[in-house]
Amino acid sequence: MFDIHIPEKDDLLKLYAQIEPGQLSMLYAVCLGLKPLMDTFLRYEHFLALKEKAKTKGILFGHNGIMMSHPQERFLRRKERRRNLGTTKMIAIPFDEERKDALVHAFISRSPDKIEEARKLTWYNLFVGEHQLVQPAIDNFRYGATLGFPDCCVRFYAGHNGRFLDDNHTWEWNTPFEVYRNTRGEFSFLCNHIPMDHCYFLIHHYPCSYNCPETIKLAGDILEGIRSIDREYGDKIERYLKLPYLLFNEKKAFVFEGEIKGNRITYSDCHFLGDKRDLATYMDITKGDCVEVHEDYIVVFRGSNEITRYPLEGDFEGKIYKFG
Ligand SMILES: [Zn+2]
Repeated sequence: MFDIHIPEKDDLLKLYAQIEPGQLSMLYAVCLGLKPLMDTFLRYEHFLALKEKAKTKGILFGHNGIMMSHPQERFLRRKERRRNLGTTKMIAIPFDEERKDALVHAFISRSPDKIEEARKLTWYNLFVGEHQLVQPAIDNFRYGATLGFPDCCVRFYAGHNGRFLDDNHTWEWNTPFEVYRNTRGEFSFLCNHIPMDHCYFLIHHYPCSYNCPETIKLAGDILEGIRSIDREYGDKIERYLKLPYLLFNEKKAFVFEGEIKGNRITYSDCHFLGDKRDLATYMDITKGDCVEVHEDYIVVFRGSNEITRYPLEGDFEGKIYKFG
């Protein structure tokens, strides 16, 4: 489940999948003209190789800086940093082509104007010594439009409780749980963002609900576009997006080969979408064949034997997501 898909027909898509397959479906969407721009982090040498390969196809590559990964904990020692930093935390470094750990924040588009727009709008909250520069929230929302996110979804987060534009802490609200809370009725698989960055997904945004009509239209077009040139990949995306999901938070989720009945998921296989260090905590789920979700705990079974229990914290930890 969730093995890497390597396209055979197109050399740019193939090279991208071999280098960094996480957002492969978004590169399809850009190539198909269904997404105005995508962004990702790439090693500088990979960025150059892809840029070269894309030249003859009218696909442009740009970037806005060179950065380096850094142990995340070091960023979080101080309270105000925890409050002002998003999920991407890096150190900017002077340009050095030879550094193998250097990453560029890359923009990929058919339009030079979109790349220029992205360079202006994408900046992270910046710390220089004791000083901090906080990104204006308005640029975040403008960038959502540049990336082709539906207007209703951008507005939902921009206007959430009227708080975003006041306090800049968009990330506190920009979570799957806001989508869950705002959904009435069935969840459409076309709004399933959970495997984002894991090769098999159609949207790279949190929709305003799990049945947002604009998102359904956009994701449906991308799916059909992918199918028209790579049927196997399109079929696998649809199948994976319809499987049962169990979310602990936006970066910790399980997807199951199995079915949901009430508060139980029975399964023959499961796959963890998240950091391997977090998987250690939930390893017993991989050994079971059934999880049962209660208000403040989860039980994992193997056959009729209980293997373990996990406590749940908060209203949204350990929620089952059922997409149809
Ligand atoms: Zn929407």
